[in-house]
Amino acid sequence: MHIEANTIPKQSPAPHRQQLQEQALEILQHTYGYEAFRGPQSDIVQQVAGGGDALVLMPTGGGKSLCFQIPALLRSGTAIVVSPLIALMQDQVDALRQYGVRAACLNSSLSGSEAFEVEHRLRNGDLDLLYVAPERLMMPRMLELLDNSQLALFAIDEAHCVSQWGHDFRPEYIQLSILHQRYPGIPRIALTATADARTRQEIIQRLALESAVVFNNGFDRPNIRYRIAENQGNARDQLLRFIRNEHEHDAGIVYCLSRKRVDDTAAWLSSKGLTALPYHAGLSQEQRQQNQSRFLRDDSVIIVATIAFGMGIDKPDVRFVAHLNLPKSIEAYYQETGRAGRDGLPADAWMLYGLQDVITLKQMQQNSDANEAYKRIERHKLDAMLGLCELHDCRRQALLSYFDDPMDHACGNCDNCLTPPQTWDATIAAQKALSCVYRTGQRFGVNYLVDVLLGKEDDRIKQFGHNTLSTYGIGNELNNSEWRTLYRQLISRGLLSVDIESHGSVQLTEAARPILKGEQTLVLRKMLKASKTRQRNTTPMLASSNPALWEALRNKRKALAEEQGVPAYVIFHDATLMDMLERQPQTLEQLSRVSGVGERKLDAYGEAFLEVIQEHGGELANSSSDTASHSIELLCQGLSPLEIAHKRDITISTVYRHLAGAIRSGELELADAVVLDDKALQEIQFAFEHSEDGRLKPVFDFLDGEYDYGILECVKAAMHV
Ligand code: ADP
Ligand code: ZN
Repeated sequence: MHIEANTIPKQSPAPHRQQLQEQALEILQHTYGYEAFRGPQSDIVQQVAGGGDALVLMPTGGGKSLCFQIPALLRSGTAIVVSPLIALMQDQVDALRQYGVRAACLNSSLSGSEAFEVEHRLRNGDLDLLYVAPERLMMPRMLELLDNSQLALFAIDEAHCVSQWGHDFRPEYIQLSILHQRYPGIPRIALTATADARTRQEIIQRLALESAVVFNNGFDRPNIRYRIAENQGNARDQLLRFIRNEHEHDAGIVYCLSRKRVDDTAAWLSSKGLTALPYHAGLSQEQRQQNQSRFLRDDSVIIVATIAFGMGIDKPDVRFVAHLNLPKSIEAYYQETGRAGRDGLPADAWMLYGLQDVITLKQMQQNSDANEAYKRIERHKLDAMLGLCELHDCRRQALLSYFDDPMDHACGNCDNCLTPPQTWDATIAAQKALSCVYRTGQRFGVNYLVDVLLGKEDDRIKQFGHNTLSTYGIGNELNNSEWRTLYRQLISRGLLSVDIESHGSVQLTEAARPILKGEQTLVLRKMLKASKTRQRNTTPMLASSNPALWEALRNKRKALAEEQGVPAYVIFHDATLMDMLERQPQTLEQLSRVSGVGERKLDAYGEAFLEVIQEHGGELANSSSDTASHSIELLCQGLSPLEIAHKRDITISTVYRHLAGAIRSGELELADAVVLDDKALQEIQFAFEHSEDGRLKPVFDFLDGEYDYGILECVKAAMHV
């Protein structure tokens, strides 16, 4: 992350800064139940809480909300949060209330008396945060109300909506610049997850943020695994296999191009026992609303949708986004796949594409009524998307460089990194394919051309006399689908163009000439079958370490959510349940150390979850001692704790916990389990000796987080404290 300072940040005097910092951390830990700030969060909170402006570029799931919520709690008065996503406001407000924060929203979905009540609370200083739609904010009545209220700050969410170049332009956003004129002393923070350099400049200029500090945290979504495979003509089966193998009980989105395909796919997945609901503009408003809210509220619904679905979906636990058709640009692909894994846990972006996709999209473009300049841009965008599909190297590097956020190493978490594709010298085959186009008069589509290359007995071919061509039957080294793949690659690379006027016939382009003449070679990727990518379960440790407890925790969460009519994740995120599963707290005090369990939630739900954990206690002890002995066995075979964690697909903390158990029972020596020099060992022992009750966290903090909890646990076990 780097900070581009337009100006020097407004520095508060040092003692004040330190105080702010401590207060911010206290809110983070007590109200939200999180251990530490992530990345730039702390600096952003300082900047805004200290009265300065900020522009925050942070990828989805990066943790933007805390950047304005915590300053809102630190400053006196109410923070006004401008957001275009009316459908989500209520959920955001519900989530804040769960933390004990006083929040409300004002938008067209409220009745007159509800709105009146909210306005009353605002005027009385009875709100920490107020979410408002931009059009509402700009009403004279609303501005007058603000004039008479104490304001903490303005947060402008989805700030890229102010850009006319972006695809989410909202005219109401342009007027937000008056906030600066009307309330010059109130700090403003604008946030977005999608803004290239040009859009960034536009945001600064239009929102009058010239003196804001820009916190640019890039675009990368490291937890999303990008995978793009070839549609082998059985896309539905491939999809089903992917879901069954990797996302059996997960929430996910499946994108299709047409309404019919949406309906068919949803019905088919349902017939296979999955909960899959359709969403497209052809359904009634009511039906759409119903399907969307089931998706938002439950934790294992699949929504099958056209691109009409998406804006404003910030469900954090979407574990996969699947594309059964090619998006028309990288922007669209990144936005759609970006809906996966907002909670930072592993998620998949999985796509299938084939020749027909390429042809359909090219046809749609040629058919559009747009002007030539616009069409040219669209063509470039599609070409970039196709380039991404056919790429041999790291997909993430290509994606990020497309957004001017280059990454200097391969990511290790995309299909090409995990299973490097094989390539082959396709020059000769390409020459055959191209020359077949030429010799048949550039009037035929791919199916016909492949038949000619394969020397098929066919009346049409005979009728045109193409069975006498030199290219007839010269292509037996590849089969039908391999030739189709090759043609798709030639089209994707712009060596052939598709003509829609004549039913998808293909023509040579200028770029084909050097290949045909043998002046240039062509290396292409061999298509892998989708299933060859290394498989992974995104919830490995959950499912494998204790599936019964995991299910029970989820069920408890669901029941509590239903009681209150809020989405399940508003009670606790998956990450929090996972942490519970790992630590298996037995007391409220232990539970309070689980990430995401703040004071209010501890009070409200602590007992209920402890009960669930205790109910599963017996079973747990058994299975955990089994799995512990497996870890110890591997250690004895010479594997390091890290290697054991990798091999078993469990976390390193779990491995250390297993080892600590064995140390405590005398089965293992400390020195067998962890490598620590004398000085480090003494330091840790010192910390434990001086801690009040031998709890890990104070010791961890005392040592500035230098040693993993697991190591501390092992030392503690050896000390018998
Ligand atoms: P964004 O708005 O940038 O997409 P959110 O603000 O919704 O992201 O945060 C994404 C997830 O990360 C949420 O589940 C949030 O509770 C969690 N989160 C944010 N900051 C922290 C932190 N410092 N420690 C732990 N979890 C965090
Ligand atoms: Zn990669």
